[in-house]
Parts: sequence; C-alpha cells; structure tokens
Amino acid sequence: MRITDDRYTRDRLRLDLALRLIRHEARTRTIRSWTGLTDDRIRKLYRSYVADAGRRDVRRRRGKSPRQCAWFMKNAAIRREAAGLATLLCVLGLLRREAGAAPGAVEQLRWGERFCEAYETFLSLNRQPQISFEHACHLLRSLEKQNEICLDDCEGCGSLLVVLRYAERPQVCEFCASTRPPARPGLSVGDC
Ligand SMILES: [Zn+2]
Repeated sequence: MRITDDRYTRDRLRLDLALRLIRHEARTRTIRSWTGLTDDRIRKLYRSYVADAGRRDVRRRRGKSPRQCAWFMKNAAIRREAAGLATLLCVLGLLRREAGAAPGAVEQLRWGERFCEAYETFLSLNRQPQISFEHACHLLRSLEKQNEICLDDCEGCGSLLVVLRYAERPQVCEFCASTRPPARPGLSVGDC
C-alpha cells in the first residue's frame, strides 16, 4: 500500500505542478523537464485546462526560451524586478549549485512548487511585471551558472542587485540611485 500511496502522491504532484506551469505559460520543454510528463500528456493537459477553465487567453509557448542576460539590464523597471525576483529566489533557497533531481522526482516537484510560489509572490508585488515565467527561469539558471550575470549588493542600502559579470557594475540599486545625491569625490562615508 505504501508504494501505491507514494506513487499516487507523486502523480498528483506532477499533474498539479504541470497545470500550475501551464497557467504561467511555461514552455513545454520546461514542463517536461520539471514534471517528467511526456509532450503528449502535456498537450492533453493543456487542451483540457483551456476547455475546462475557459481560459483561451493562456498561450502555449513554443520555440526558444529567453537566452539574453543583457535583457535583465534593459531598463530601470526590469533591473528593479530582476533584483526583487533574485532576492526571493535567494531567500527561498531556490538557487542550486548542483544539477536538480531527475524530472518528475518528488524532490524536483517540490522544488518546482517553491519556484512557482516565488514567482507568484513576485507577480503579487508588481503591478505590470515584465519578467515572464520563462524569463524568471532564465534568471534562475543564469544566476546559478554565474557566467554572464551574478549577484552584488547595493553600497547604499545593502539590497541585492543583479549585475552583468564582465561589465562596469552599478554601485547602488535603482532606489538609492533615485533618492540619494551622488557621493562627492574624496568624501568617504566616515567623514559624514
Ligand atoms: Zn540601495
């Protein structure tokens, strides 16, 4: 019975996570690699979700996932969003040094749930967010690799910043940049 129960729990987790990802318009590839479901199963789930929930506005994304790290630096609003989302990913312990568990493993499914919670919290904090779910996945992967972007901290308030690894880094966050006058040259914080 125990094996049957565990399997039921895992199947339930997989379907719940897949539907949650469909609602966020995640790409089929993402859904497959997190849940271990086949493309055919995902297609059927998507169709039944759209039919049952009457959600014709949910799109099924195909093609390539976002790949450009420079996109996160595009403007002040996106930089602020990227910093906020990166903070949530850090606080919730979602950044991983090691490769994730196998697709569909309970550990991977639970991780996927926590990632969705982080992204949903991010959505609730931003009125018109520009970072899509797939962009959020790309931010996570890029922060884990640290090849092109990495985390830094604001010299003004200590909050997390997402910065390009091999470009000149901003010293302060968007908030501090807009509220503090630029430091006078030759004057250190201790002199104030
Ligand atoms: Zn700051």
